[in-house]
Formats: sequence, C-alpha cells, structure tokens
Amino acid sequence: MKNIFWFRRDLRLQDNAGLYHALRSGIPTQCIFIFDTNILDKLNDRTDARVSFIHQVVLNLNGQLKEYGSQLKVYYGEPVAVWKNILKNDPDITSVYTNRDYETYALDRDEKVYQLLAARDVKLHTYKDHVIFEKDEVLKKDGTPYTVFTPYKKKWIEKLHSKKAGQLSYYFKSYPSVKYSSSLAKKNGGNEIISLETMGFSQSSISFPDIEVKQKIIKEYGEKRNFPAVHGTSRLGIHFRFGTISIREKARRAEQLSDVYLSELVWRDFYSQILSHFPKVETSAFRDKYEKVKWRYEESEFHAWCQGKTGYPMVDAGMRELNETGYMHNRVRMIVASFLTKHLLMDWRLGEAYFAEKLLDFDLASNSGGWQWAAGCGTDAAPYFRIFNPTSQQVKFDKDFVYIKRWIKEWGTADYPEPIVDHKYARERCLKAYKEALA
Ligand SMILES: Cc1cc2nc3c(=O)[nH]c(=O)nc-3n(C[C@H](O)[C@H](O)[C@H](O)COP(=O)(O)OP(=O)(O)OC[C@H]3O[C@@H](n4cnc5c(N)ncnc54)[C@H](O)[C@@H]3O)c2cc1C
Repeated sequence: MKNIFWFRRDLRLQDNAGLYHALRSGIPTQCIFIFDTNILDKLNDRTDARVSFIHQVVLNLNGQLKEYGSQLKVYYGEPVAVWKNILKNDPDITSVYTNRDYETYALDRDEKVYQLLAARDVKLHTYKDHVIFEKDEVLKKDGTPYTVFTPYKKKWIEKLHSKKAGQLSYYFKSYPSVKYSSSLAKKNGGNEIISLETMGFSQSSISFPDIEVKQKIIKEYGEKRNFPAVHGTSRLGIHFRFGTISIREKARRAEQLSDVYLSELVWRDFYSQILSHFPKVETSAFRDKYEKVKWRYEESEFHAWCQGKTGYPMVDAGMRELNETGYMHNRVRMIVASFLTKHLLMDWRLGEAYFAEKLLDFDLASNSGGWQWAAGCGTDAAPYFRIFNPTSQQVKFDKDFVYIKRWIKEWGTADYPEPIVDHKYARERCLKAYKEALA
C-alpha cells in the first residue's frame, strides 16, 4: 500500500491539511509535484517570475523532504498523461491525497484525474487548505451565496467563533503534518529535478517578497495600508497564492494583531466563494447588464497604460512598479484599473489579462473580483459613477510624490508625457457610455 500526496497550490510541509491526513494514515506517502504544461505552454514570458518562484520552492521542498529521508518526485507534462504513467508504473498506490483548488481549470483537471484513479480503484481524498471557509460554509439563511461583502464578513466572523478548539477558533487550528513525518516514503531511485532551462524557461531577475513579515507591519496595517510609498502591507500575496504559507496561521496572527488585516483575508475568501458559485466571473461581468457597455479600444492608449506612460503619475508609477517588480500596491491597483476602464473606457478583461501576466500574486478569483469592482460590474462593485480622480488620489495617498518619484525617474522633466486624455472629458464620456448601457 502506498499514498501519493500531490502538491499544487499548497507548497509547504508544515500545517498542510492534505499532507497531514496522508501522513497520519500511517501508510508510506510519496510526495509529488507536476510542472503542468497546459499552464506553462501558455506563458509568453520565458523568464516568468512565477515559474522561477515555483521552481525554487520545489527545490526547497525536495531539500526538506531529504532531511526526513524522503524525496519529492517532480514530473513535467500534461497532468492526466503524467497520472496515467504514475499509475502504470506503480501498482502499489492505493490512495491519493491533495488539497482542493477551486479554479475552473483545476476542477476540470481534478475530475479527469479522479476518473483515472477510480478506474484503478485508487481512492482520492481532498481537503480544504487554501481558504478558511469554502463555497458552502458561509451562506445566507436561505442557503444562497452572499454577493455583498459586509454581510458575508459578518457571517464569516460569526462562523469563526461558532466552534472552538481550546481558546482558538476550530477553523484556525493547524495541521501538524511534520509530526507524522515517519510516514514519508523512503527515498528510492534518482531524484533529478527538471531544470528551468529544460522546461524552456530561465531565471527571472525579479526578487520575491519575504515570507516573514514584521509584526509591526500587521499591527499598523490599519493606518498605513493605503500609502504606496510606505512598506505598510504584508506583500504576502505570492505566498498565499502558492501556499508557501498557511492561511490558518496568518489569519490567527491577524486576529490577534489587526482586524483590518483579517478583513483583507476575508476578502480573499469572499472572492474565492464568488468564483466557486459564479464561475462565469472568470470571463464575464457578474452583473449581466454591464456586458452592454460599449468599450473603446485604442492600441496606442492601451500601450501607454501598460508601459506607464499615460501622463497621470499615479497610474504610471503603479504600472511601472508592476512591470519592474511583479507587485503593485492595492490602492494603486484600484487607481490604474479605474483609469483603464473608466478614463480610457476599455474592457476590464484587457486589464485583467495584463495583470494575470505580470502579477506575482495573480489569483483568478481576486483578480477578476478586483477588476470587476473597479469597472463597476462586479459583486460588491464601486458604482459606475464613482470615477477615481488620479490627481486627487495622489494628493490623498502620495502627497509628497515619494512613490511617484520612486518609479518615474523623468517625472517633472520635459521627458514625462502629457496626459493622454483630459480627466473631465474622460469622466463625462464614461458616464455617458455606462448610462446608455444600463438604460
Ligand atoms: C484590480 C485589482 C486586481 C487585483 N488582483 C489580485 C490578484 O490577482 N491576486 C490577489 O491576491 N489580490 C489581488 N488584488 C487584491 C489586492 O490588491 C492584493 O491582494 C494586495 O495588494 C496584495 O498585496 P499584499 O500581499 O501586500 O496585501 P495585504 O494588504 O498585506 O493583504 C494581505 C492579503 O490579503 C489578501 N487581500 C488583500 N486585499 C484583498 C482584496 N481586495 N481581495 C482579495 N484578497 C485580498 C491577499 O491575499 C493579500 O496578500 C487585486 C485588487 C485589485 C483592485
């Protein structure tokens, strides 16, 4: 008998729900990871920083497993084909353990793998690990999903306190996977891990945000989180995205240190459940009637937005930060998204796709949620007539131009471009287009 534990977006040994259950069963457990060509082949940038990040994490995981006398088996290919091979070559496998992934592609992939396993009489055990509450755990009294954040959050908090494990909420309890490390399958055979180059990638020059966050940042999060020049947010997005940290551990810490920070983690669950209940938000507006908005498309303007050359310094600083680091501050994400969808009146899907290509922390649920919020067509959206004025946003959130000067070296010189569109004119054009669509 043998278990397989399949790592996906939960790339850590400690406090890993699926791994814990696999090891606790007492049956030898082989950990695996698949570099998925369905995903990798679609990436245009062969130095994609997310691939470098995952590759580094996979090497680290293998190093940690080696310390327990085990190893990580790493595959490269199309997951269903990889699974066919694994099953063909290893008749001892009786169970597969993994943590649930809620994106449409992942659900479809997992269903196909499940069919394969079932045909071989291999059991599939899946666990909640990526969120605090899944799709159906926080619902309205009538059993329907919440589509507005505030009542969702109220119910989320109620549920959190409804079940206790000692002093702690039951839902924050960690899974001491490593305690059962003796169940890890012993290393056998070679342990070559495919290189980035063999997969057609090379190392990105982008550096990754620390996995450790100073307590002070979380404590002062409520006061500092809106100012992009300040290091006032955790920058843990990429670690939440790939599960190099545990959401339970971070939520526990947030509960002690900052309600505002905890609230952001609730937003993460909120968008995850929206995607699960309404998978159409992956490509369509949550509010159908917004599909009628007549978007413009002007290539030179879209390029100016992507390159950070719109002549609106808050927008440009944000886009340059994104292009150079794979990160953009949340306040600035809202400003650049509003600018693209409202000032330039371009389809939110264009911006969403650009972010998906560039953000280290790209997450389908939160990205679609954020973009639809900005465009006014989402669940809890900013009303369409709320159009951020990038200049007043700068006065409020970067009044000394510290953030702007950091990212726009030529700002204040003749080399910096004139605004590509007049604010007042763009505002009126936007209001007219939205009004017509919603009439
Ligand atoms: C247009 C737009 C696109 C976005 N795209 C993404 C995305 O692809 N991936 C992503 O994780 N977040 C996205 N966000 C939400 C938010 O901007 C980022 O989570 C945050 O800026 C990441 O920085 P941080 O790790 O320092 O966050 P912190 O402010 O330190 O927050 C901690 C964590 O809470 C979660 N979080 C915070 N704010 C939100 C939010 N509004 N919605 C959902 N989760 C949140 C994230 O996991 C974040 O890492 C987007 C927001 C907008 C307006």
